[in-house]
Amino acid sequence: MHAIRTVLAMLLVTSPAWAAGLDTQEAQIVAHVKRMTPDALKLLERSVLVNSGTLNPAGVREVGALFGSEFEALGFKTRWVEMPAEMKRAGHLVAERVGDKGKRVLLIGHLDTVFEKDSPVPPWQSDGKRVRGQGVSDMKGGDVIILLALKALNEAGALQGRTVRAVFTGDEERVGHPAERARAALIDAAKQSDVALAFEGATKDEQGRDAGTIGRRASGGWHLQVTARTGHSAGVFGRDGYGAVYEAARVLNAFREQLIEPDLTFNAATLVAGTSARWDDGESQGQAFGKTNVIPRDAQVRGDLRYLTAEQGAKALERMQAIVEQALPGTRSRISFSENYPPMAPTPGNLKLLEAYSAASADAGLGAIVPFPPGQRGAGDVQFVAPFVDSLDGLGAAGGGAHTPDEWLDISSIERGAIRAALLIYRLTR
Ligand SMILES: [Zn+2]
Repeated sequence: MHAIRTVLAMLLVTSPAWAAGLDTQEAQIVAHVKRMTPDALKLLERSVLVNSGTLNPAGVREVGALFGSEFEALGFKTRWVEMPAEMKRAGHLVAERVGDKGKRVLLIGHLDTVFEKDSPVPPWQSDGKRVRGQGVSDMKGGDVIILLALKALNEAGALQGRTVRAVFTGDEERVGHPAERARAALIDAAKQSDVALAFEGATKDEQGRDAGTIGRRASGGWHLQVTARTGHSAGVFGRDGYGAVYEAARVLNAFREQLIEPDLTFNAATLVAGTSARWDDGESQGQAFGKTNVIPRDAQVRGDLRYLTAEQGAKALERMQAIVEQALPGTRSRISFSENYPPMAPTPGNLKLLEAYSAASADAGLGAIVPFPPGQRGAGDVQFVAPFVDSLDGLGAAGGGAHTPDEWLDISSIERGAIRAALLIYRLTR
């Protein structure tokens, strides 16, 4: 096959660059994408005009129904996965086509955006090259790329007998609690797949090269609670011990001096301390009472923790725990941890997937794609499936300003993204 491609490439030097590394059917798929892109842009506009803030379940469902009917038209079976009422989330769209040939592919999108109904940001403002608006690149653009790629593959008859699943979650921007319940359908789909492709925004690395995401750091939190003997301030450092504030400071300073390493961060975010200290997680607010002539009894510190691999996370927890245990006289510290997003470690399998994506892109004349530095990307849904299947993220639209009023989309990235994705899915499912 490789030899044939090389010969073809030599024969086709005078034809358009995009055709250089593609076989006949692949070239046809690319042509379908190009022909169908204007319709995809209309679908994008329709989807963006429906507000689907995470906390607007009706809007999320409406966008789900819109994309759902597109999947149905391509021969997919769709269903809506409901969440329990107390979770206050809309649920998810799942679409499936089941066959018996090639790798089983999972495609991940999300229906919600960070812009709630009362958002002053206009949903859609286009100058023909760029669109600004609510969720245009994060990630309705990515959702539309998925559908455009599948449409082109379907048109070429390339989905026959293939297994493709898509899960568009309704609460990516604010995952419902508990996360195990909120992500059960996504994880279940991953367990029935061989590879997962996620269509969050495309990125560039520092040199401006197109980059794919083969790793994303876990994100979690920690909570340090210090209790100390109290007494007159004159007795501090002596029989009454050091007090809760010095103990909290000792712990934090030891974290900073001993734990810093690449891809690991542990931001200390809030600290309340005094004779009494209270913190309300729901309100993200604290209260303290104390006097300068009293040794403080309570301290509470909250922070986050991000790490690239399960091993790195486990080692960090162990070392933080060991530091906490060396309490100053008259004090006692406890630390607890939680994990919100598991790590997507940059595994050899993920790298192989990126190489296949890069080859598809290069063969279509769209250039190579390099790995994005994993430590620099925030958390995303792909992390829930990465422990089960080889995964790649960042196949979505190009743009910027995600989560801000200036969010924008590079319109040409829809066609480009769909060509790359369609070729990758085609090759994975042969
Ligand atoms: Zn997103």
